[in-house]
Amino acid sequence: MLKRRLFTPGPVPVPERVRLAMAPEIIHHRAPDFIPIFQHCKEGLQRIFQTEQPVLIFAASGTGAMNASVSNLLSPGDHALVVRGGKFGERWQEICDAYCVRTTCIDVEWGQAVDPARVGEALDANPDVKAVYLTASETSTCVRHPVREVVQAVRAREGERLVVVDGITAVGVYDIPMDAWDIDALVSGSQKAFMLPPGLAFLGLSPRAWRFQESATCPRFYFDVAAERSALEGDQTAWTPAVSLLMGLEEALKIILDEQGLEGTWRRTEALAHATREAMRALGLELYAPDAPSPAATAVVVPEGIDGPALRKLLKDELGFTTADGQGKAKGKIFRLAHLGYFDAFDTIAAVAAVEIALARLGYEFKTGEGVRTAVELLRDHA
Ligand SMILES: *Cc1c(COP(=O)(O)O)cnc(C)c1O
Repeated sequence: MLKRRLFTPGPVPVPERVRLAMAPEIIHHRAPDFIPIFQHCKEGLQRIFQTEQPVLIFAASGTGAMNASVSNLLSPGDHALVVRGGKFGERWQEICDAYCVRTTCIDVEWGQAVDPARVGEALDANPDVKAVYLTASETSTCVRHPVREVVQAVRAREGERLVVVDGITAVGVYDIPMDAWDIDALVSGSQKAFMLPPGLAFLGLSPRAWRFQESATCPRFYFDVAAERSALEGDQTAWTPAVSLLMGLEEALKIILDEQGLEGTWRRTEALAHATREAMRALGLELYAPDAPSPAATAVVVPEGIDGPALRKLLKDELGFTTADGQGKAKGKIFRLAHLGYFDAFDTIAAVAAVEIALARLGYEFKTGEGVRTAVELLRDHA
């Protein structure tokens, strides 16, 4: 028997309680029993986004809400500034391209975080930029970008501009208060910190973003935020919602907000991430994002002499651990271990042990148990 363990930064494991909450018979979404479920989801999302604004819910993967954050806020020919430096930063530019939004890109070295001063300089050179698109936690490189400082750099300049943030592996992972940091659009998705299967995308918009929306002329139909906002006021979505996923979301939000607490969730995730980073270093391994790591997941550089795909294959096929490969130019060169969502200290210690066993079988030299010992010590008070 091989016990399967999923360690990818989306999808993440789904707690049994959440799976059971999705098991009942389907109810009709325009019937009264749907209303309290939807209301709980609506309120819970505002708490986890830390916003007074409505958070829209789409039946889509996270990219659906990213798409909506271009098509509803800008017009063809508008100029946008995009921070790239990983697969998801690049996605912003691809969506802008699809809607004929002109882009200027700041290319950040993979594994590094953007220097907010570069955003300021780019705006000084391109004062017609209407929106800045960036990624809070760049899951492909496991970097955390300085969102708050980027917003400050944008606000320090004359002119009204939007700051649109892909928070898909940041919301519910660490503190990223939408209102307090003056973020105009914040995106997330169900298969990350929300501990749900894929299929829901979330989008919070600031009053400034709602104003931009009024004059934006990019074509849109399914992802129409104005239609969603008016439906939301009546505790509905514009189109048929993913009813089962909303039943799961209600339960997951209860766990995150009422049982662990938002701060407890951030603390646990950070502790798991910190322990993993130190455990990998104790094995002599290098981190891909040593200077600005995101607590959502850790990217570990495959050491010299070890074949990356063979390492991941051994972890998966012989030890049951599904890890994530690098994406784009990091493919085969790193492996990623997730911390966001339904993971605890024992999962993390097990993952470190699995990495040790896999590396030992492939002939990598290190002191057996050094990683596990480090993780156990660092997680002693988080178990
Ligand atoms: C997972 C993820 C996405 C969304 O991907 P989907 O496959 O559309 O859900 C976008 N951005 C980041 C940073 C992610 O981690």
